[in-house]
Amino acid sequence: MSARIIDGKALATELRDAVAAETRQLVAAHGLQPGLAVVLVGDNAASKSYVASKSRALVEVGMRPFDFTLPAATSEAELLALIKKLNCDPAVNGILVQLPLPPQIDTSHILASIDPHKDVDGFHPLNAGRLMSGLPALVPCTPIACLKLIRTVHDSLAGIEALMIGRSHIVGSPLSHVLLNENATVTVAHTFTRHLPELCRRAELLCVAIGCAEFIRGDWIKPGATVIDIGIDRVTVDGKSRIVGDVKFSEAVEVAGAITPVPGGVGPMTIVCLLVNTLRAACMQAGLPPPAA
Ligand code: NAD
Repeated sequence: MSARIIDGKALATELRDAVAAETRQLVAAHGLQPGLAVVLVGDNAASKSYVASKSRALVEVGMRPFDFTLPAATSEAELLALIKKLNCDPAVNGILVQLPLPPQIDTSHILASIDPHKDVDGFHPLNAGRLMSGLPALVPCTPIACLKLIRTVHDSLAGIEALMIGRSHIVGSPLSHVLLNENATVTVAHTFTRHLPELCRRAELLCVAIGCAEFIRGDWIKPGATVIDIGIDRVTVDGKSRIVGDVKFSEAVEVAGAITPVPGGVGPMTIVCLLVNTLRAACMQAGLPPPAA
Protein backbone atom coordinates (compact mmCIF):
# COMPACT_ATOMS: atom_id res chain seq x y z
CA MET A 1 0.00 0.00 0.00
CA SER A 2 1.22 3.51 -0.70
CA ALA A 3 -0.07 6.35 1.45
CA ARG A 4 -1.90 9.39 0.19
CA ILE A 5 0.56 12.30 0.26
CA ILE A 6 -0.90 15.34 2.03
CA ASP A 7 0.26 18.19 -0.21
CA GLY A 8 1.00 21.02 2.23
CA LYS A 9 2.33 23.25 -0.53
CA ALA A 10 -0.89 23.14 -2.55
CA LEU A 11 -3.07 23.55 0.55
CA ALA A 12 -0.92 26.50 1.67
CA THR A 13 -1.46 28.21 -1.69
CA GLU A 14 -5.24 27.71 -1.39
CA LEU A 15 -5.27 29.06 2.17
CA ARG A 16 -3.06 32.03 1.24
CA ASP A 17 -5.50 32.96 -1.55
CA ALA A 18 -8.40 32.79 0.93
CA VAL A 19 -6.50 35.01 3.40
CA ALA A 20 -5.70 37.50 0.60
CA ALA A 21 -9.41 37.66 -0.37
CA GLU A 22 -10.48 38.24 3.27
CA THR A 23 -7.79 40.91 3.67
CA ARG A 24 -9.01 42.75 0.56
CA GLN A 25 -12.54 42.65 1.98
CA LEU A 26 -11.38 43.97 5.36
CA VAL A 27 -9.58 46.89 3.69
CA ALA A 28 -12.56 47.65 1.41
CA ALA A 29 -15.29 47.38 4.05
CA HIS A 30 -13.52 48.75 7.14
CA GLY A 31 -10.38 50.51 5.88
CA LEU A 32 -8.45 48.05 8.05
CA GLN A 33 -5.15 46.70 6.69
CA PRO A 34 -3.74 44.10 9.10
CA GLY A 35 -0.20 44.93 10.19
CA LEU A 36 2.40 42.61 11.70
CA ALA A 37 5.57 43.73 13.48
CA VAL A 38 8.40 41.22 13.13
CA VAL A 39 11.25 41.81 15.56
CA LEU A 40 14.67 40.26 14.97
CA VAL A 41 17.51 40.62 17.46
CA GLY A 42 20.98 39.82 16.13
CA ASP A 43 22.09 38.52 12.76
CA ASN A 44 21.50 34.76 12.91
CA ALA A 45 21.40 33.77 9.22
CA ALA A 46 18.50 31.27 9.58
CA SER A 47 16.42 33.77 11.61
CA LYS A 48 17.09 36.50 9.03
CA SER A 49 15.87 34.26 6.23
CA TYR A 50 12.70 33.26 8.22
CA VAL A 51 11.94 36.93 8.90
CA ALA A 52 12.43 37.88 5.23
CA SER A 53 10.07 35.11 4.07
CA LYS A 54 7.43 36.13 6.65
CA SER A 55 7.56 39.76 5.44
CA ARG A 56 7.29 38.64 1.81
CA ALA A 57 4.26 36.46 2.63
CA LEU A 58 2.56 39.40 4.40
CA VAL A 59 3.01 41.71 1.43
CA GLU A 60 1.70 39.02 -0.96
CA VAL A 61 -1.67 38.91 0.84
CA GLY A 62 -1.95 42.69 1.18
CA MET A 63 -0.94 42.98 4.83
CA ARG A 64 1.52 45.51 6.20
CA PRO A 65 4.89 44.33 7.57
CA PHE A 66 6.78 46.40 10.14
CA ASP A 67 10.31 45.04 10.35
CA PHE A 68 12.59 45.79 13.29
CA THR A 69 16.17 44.52 13.27
CA LEU A 70 18.04 45.20 16.49
CA PRO A 71 21.75 44.61 17.22
CA ALA A 72 22.80 41.37 18.94
CA ALA A 73 23.88 43.39 22.03
CA THR A 74 20.35 44.79 22.58
CA SER A 75 19.41 44.67 26.27
CA GLU A 76 16.21 43.15 27.65
CA ALA A 77 15.08 46.66 28.73
CA GLU A 78 15.53 48.00 25.18
CA LEU A 79 13.53 45.14 23.66
CA LEU A 80 10.81 45.52 26.31
CA ALA A 81 10.59 49.24 25.46
CA LEU A 82 10.08 48.45 21.76
CA ILE A 83 7.34 45.90 22.55
CA LYS A 84 5.62 48.41 24.83
CA LYS A 85 5.55 50.87 21.91
CA LEU A 86 4.21 48.22 19.50
CA ASN A 87 1.54 47.13 22.01
CA CYS A 88 0.16 50.71 21.88
CA ASP A 89 0.44 51.21 18.10
CA PRO A 90 -3.02 50.76 16.49
CA ALA A 91 -1.47 50.04 13.05
CA VAL A 92 0.26 46.97 14.53
CA ASN A 93 -2.23 44.11 14.96
CA GLY A 94 0.33 41.38 15.58
CA ILE A 95 3.78 41.20 17.16
CA LEU A 96 6.21 38.40 16.46
CA VAL A 97 9.59 38.22 18.17
CA GLN A 98 11.83 35.85 16.24
CA LEU A 99 13.37 33.18 18.49
CA PRO A 100 15.94 32.32 19.68
CA LEU A 101 16.94 35.54 21.46
CA PRO A 102 20.53 36.34 22.59
CA PRO A 103 21.46 35.01 26.05
CA GLN A 104 21.25 38.40 27.86
CA ILE A 105 17.49 38.48 27.15
CA ASP A 106 15.03 36.32 29.10
CA THR A 107 12.68 34.91 26.44
CA SER A 108 9.85 34.29 28.92
CA HIS A 109 9.89 37.99 30.01
CA ILE A 110 9.66 39.10 26.39
CA LEU A 111 6.85 36.70 25.43
CA ALA A 112 4.84 37.69 28.51
CA SER A 113 5.23 41.41 27.67
CA ILE A 114 3.42 41.10 24.32
CA ASP A 115 -0.24 42.19 24.39
CA PRO A 116 -2.09 38.80 24.32
CA HIS A 117 -4.44 40.23 21.65
CA LYS A 118 -1.41 40.84 19.39
CA ASP A 119 0.32 37.54 20.24
CA VAL A 120 0.15 35.97 16.75
CA ASP A 121 2.68 33.27 17.74
CA GLY A 122 0.34 32.16 20.54
CA PHE A 123 3.24 31.84 23.02
CA HIS A 124 1.89 34.23 25.70
CA PRO A 125 0.97 32.32 28.91
CA LEU A 126 -2.58 33.70 28.71
CA ASN A 127 -3.12 32.28 25.23
CA ALA A 128 -1.47 28.98 26.23
CA GLY A 129 -3.81 28.82 29.25
CA ARG A 130 -6.88 29.67 27.17
CA LEU A 131 -5.99 26.89 24.70
CA MET A 132 -5.61 24.43 27.59
CA SER A 133 -8.97 25.57 28.98
CA GLY A 134 -10.66 25.03 25.61
CA LEU A 135 -11.37 28.78 25.27
CA PRO A 136 -10.92 30.83 22.08
CA ALA A 137 -7.25 31.83 21.85
CA LEU A 138 -4.49 32.80 19.47
CA VAL A 139 -2.99 29.33 18.95
CA PRO A 140 0.61 28.74 17.78
CA CYS A 141 0.92 28.54 13.98
CA THR A 142 2.40 25.05 13.56
CA PRO A 143 -0.37 23.28 15.56
CA ILE A 144 -3.04 25.16 13.54
CA ALA A 145 -1.24 24.14 10.34
CA CYS A 146 -1.21 20.49 11.49
CA LEU A 147 -4.94 20.53 12.29
CA LYS A 148 -5.76 21.99 8.87
CA LEU A 149 -3.70 19.20 7.23
CA ILE A 150 -5.32 16.51 9.39
CA ARG A 151 -8.76 17.82 8.46
CA THR A 152 -8.09 16.97 4.80
CA VAL A 153 -8.10 13.31 5.89
CA HIS A 154 -10.45 13.19 8.90
CA ASP A 155 -13.76 15.07 9.14
CA SER A 156 -13.88 14.33 12.85
CA LEU A 157 -11.17 13.40 15.36
CA ALA A 158 -13.63 12.33 18.07
CA GLY A 159 -12.27 9.26 19.84
CA ILE A 160 -9.32 8.77 17.47
CA GLU A 161 -6.15 7.33 19.11
CA ALA A 162 -3.61 10.12 18.62
CA LEU A 163 0.04 10.03 19.63
CA MET A 164 1.96 13.31 19.87
CA ILE A 165 5.71 12.71 20.06
CA GLY A 166 7.44 15.83 21.44
CA ARG A 167 6.18 18.22 24.13
CA SER A 168 7.82 21.57 23.33
CA HIS A 169 5.89 24.76 24.11
CA ILE A 170 6.06 25.68 20.43
CA VAL A 171 4.71 22.50 18.84
CA GLY A 172 4.11 19.32 20.85
CA SER A 173 2.34 20.71 23.90
CA PRO A 174 -0.06 23.08 22.07
CA LEU A 175 -0.78 20.50 19.35
CA SER A 176 -1.67 17.91 21.99
CA HIS A 177 -4.24 20.39 23.40
CA VAL A 178 -5.56 21.23 19.93
CA LEU A 179 -6.17 17.50 19.39
CA LEU A 180 -7.77 17.10 22.84
CA ASN A 181 -10.09 20.01 22.07
CA GLU A 182 -11.09 18.04 18.95
CA ASN A 183 -12.01 15.13 21.25
CA ALA A 184 -9.12 12.87 20.21
CA THR A 185 -7.74 10.41 22.77
CA VAL A 186 -4.27 11.90 23.09
CA THR A 187 -1.04 10.34 24.38
CA VAL A 188 2.02 12.58 24.63
CA ALA A 189 5.47 10.99 24.32
CA HIS A 190 8.86 12.61 25.00
CA THR A 191 12.49 11.75 25.72
CA PHE A 192 11.60 9.87 28.93
CA THR A 193 8.88 7.76 27.28
CA ARG A 194 9.46 4.00 27.29
CA HIS A 195 8.36 1.54 24.58
CA LEU A 196 7.92 4.23 21.91
CA PRO A 197 7.60 1.81 18.95
CA GLU A 198 4.73 -0.03 20.72
CA LEU A 199 2.96 3.26 21.48
CA CYS A 200 3.35 4.32 17.84
CA ARG A 201 1.84 1.05 16.58
CA ARG A 202 -1.41 1.88 18.43
CA ALA A 203 -1.79 5.37 16.99
CA GLU A 204 -4.36 6.06 14.29
CA LEU A 205 -2.98 9.60 14.15
CA LEU A 206 0.76 10.04 14.66
CA CYS A 207 2.21 13.55 15.00
CA VAL A 208 5.97 13.84 15.39
CA ALA A 209 7.97 16.94 16.45
CA ILE A 210 11.27 15.80 17.97
CA GLY A 211 14.01 17.21 15.74
CA CYS A 212 15.68 13.80 15.11
CA ALA A 213 16.17 13.00 11.42
CA GLU A 214 14.16 9.97 10.18
CA PHE A 215 13.83 8.59 13.73
CA ILE A 216 10.37 7.01 13.33
CA ARG A 217 10.62 3.83 11.26
CA GLY A 218 8.04 2.31 8.95
CA ASP A 219 7.47 -0.79 11.10
CA TRP A 220 6.50 1.46 14.06
CA ILE A 221 3.48 2.76 12.15
CA LYS A 222 -0.02 1.29 12.34
CA PRO A 223 -1.20 0.31 8.84
CA GLY A 224 -3.49 3.01 7.48
CA ALA A 225 -2.51 5.62 10.11
CA THR A 226 -2.31 9.34 9.36
CA VAL A 227 1.24 10.60 9.88
CA ILE A 228 2.01 14.30 10.41
CA ASP A 229 5.76 14.86 10.25
CA ILE A 230 6.63 18.24 11.74
CA GLY A 231 10.41 17.78 11.90
CA ILE A 232 12.71 19.92 9.78
CA ASP A 233 16.10 18.25 10.02
CA ARG A 234 19.15 18.99 7.92
CA VAL A 235 21.25 15.96 6.93
CA THR A 236 24.27 15.55 4.67
CA VAL A 237 24.21 12.64 2.24
CA ASP A 238 27.12 12.07 -0.18
CA GLY A 239 28.41 15.55 0.65
CA LYS A 240 25.05 17.16 -0.20
CA SER A 241 22.89 18.85 2.40
CA ARG A 242 19.13 18.28 2.35
CA ILE A 243 16.09 18.58 4.60
CA VAL A 244 14.28 15.51 5.95
CA GLY A 245 11.60 14.99 8.59
CA ASP A 246 11.50 13.08 11.88
CA VAL A 247 9.86 10.12 10.08
CA LYS A 248 11.66 7.79 7.66
CA PHE A 249 9.42 8.76 4.75
CA SER A 250 10.41 6.00 2.27
CA GLU A 251 9.35 3.34 4.82
CA ALA A 252 6.36 5.14 6.33
CA VAL A 253 4.75 5.87 2.96
CA GLU A 254 4.37 2.10 2.40
CA VAL A 255 2.42 1.60 5.65
CA ALA A 256 0.54 4.82 6.46
CA GLY A 257 -2.84 5.77 5.02
CA ALA A 258 -1.85 9.42 4.61
CA ILE A 259 1.39 11.26 5.30
CA THR A 260 2.87 14.76 5.09
CA PRO A 261 6.16 14.99 3.16
CA VAL A 262 9.18 17.01 4.32
CA PRO A 263 9.71 19.44 2.73
CA GLY A 264 6.30 20.41 1.35
CA GLY A 265 4.05 19.38 4.25
CA VAL A 266 3.67 21.22 7.56
CA GLY A 267 6.33 23.90 6.79
CA PRO A 268 4.51 25.82 4.01
CA MET A 269 1.22 25.68 5.94
CA THR A 270 2.84 27.09 9.10
CA ILE A 271 3.83 30.36 7.46
CA VAL A 272 0.33 30.86 6.01
CA CYS A 273 -1.14 30.18 9.47
CA LEU A 274 0.85 33.19 10.71
CA LEU A 275 -1.14 35.24 8.18
CA VAL A 276 -4.36 33.64 9.42
CA ASN A 277 -3.46 34.60 13.00
CA THR A 278 -2.63 38.17 11.95
CA LEU A 279 -6.01 38.44 10.24
CA ARG A 280 -7.71 36.92 13.30
CA ALA A 281 -5.94 39.39 15.64
CA ALA A 282 -6.92 42.36 13.44
CA CYS A 283 -10.60 41.26 13.35
CA MET A 284 -10.62 40.63 17.11
CA GLN A 285 -9.16 44.07 17.88
CA ALA A 286 -11.74 45.76 15.62
CA GLY A 287 -14.62 43.85 17.25
CA LEU A 288 -15.34 41.99 13.99
CA PRO A 289 -16.19 38.26 13.73
CA PRO A 290 -13.20 35.92 13.28
CA PRO A 291 -12.10 35.23 9.69
CA ALA A 292 -13.38 32.14 7.85
CA ALA A 293 -9.85 31.13 6.70
P1 NAD B 1 12.34 20.93 20.87
O1 NAD B 1 13.77 20.51 20.84
O2 NAD B 1 11.96 22.17 21.61
O3 NAD B 1 11.46 19.74 21.46
C1 NAD B 1 11.66 18.42 21.06
C2 NAD B 1 10.73 17.51 21.84
O4 NAD B 1 10.90 16.19 21.36
C3 NAD B 1 11.00 17.48 23.34
O5 NAD B 1 9.75 17.52 24.02
C4 NAD B 1 11.68 16.13 23.59
O6 NAD B 1 11.31 15.56 24.83
C5 NAD B 1 11.14 15.29 22.44
N1 NAD B 1 12.11 14.30 21.96
C6 NAD B 1 13.34 14.52 21.47
N2 NAD B 1 13.93 13.36 21.11
C7 NAD B 1 13.03 12.38 21.39
C8 NAD B 1 13.02 10.97 21.25
N3 NAD B 1 14.09 10.34 20.76
N4 NAD B 1 11.93 10.28 21.63
C9 NAD B 1 10.84 10.91 22.13
N5 NAD B 1 10.78 12.26 22.28
C10 NAD B 1 11.86 12.98 21.92
O7 NAD B 1 11.89 21.01 19.34
P2 NAD B 1 10.63 21.75 18.64
O8 NAD B 1 10.85 23.21 18.63
O9 NAD B 1 9.35 21.21 19.16
O10 NAD B 1 10.84 21.22 17.14
C11 NAD B 1 10.78 19.84 16.82
C12 NAD B 1 11.03 19.67 15.33
O11 NAD B 1 9.99 20.35 14.62
C13 NAD B 1 12.33 20.27 14.82
O12 NAD B 1 12.81 19.46 13.77
C14 NAD B 1 11.92 21.62 14.30
O13 NAD B 1 12.80 22.10 13.29
C15 NAD B 1 10.57 21.29 13.72
N6 NAD B 1 9.65 22.44 13.62
C16 NAD B 1 8.97 22.56 12.47
C17 NAD B 1 8.07 23.57 12.28
C18 NAD B 1 7.34 23.66 10.99
O14 NAD B 1 6.82 24.72 10.66
N7 NAD B 1 7.25 22.58 10.24
C19 NAD B 1 7.86 24.51 13.31
C20 NAD B 1 8.55 24.36 14.52
C21 NAD B 1 9.45 23.30 14.66
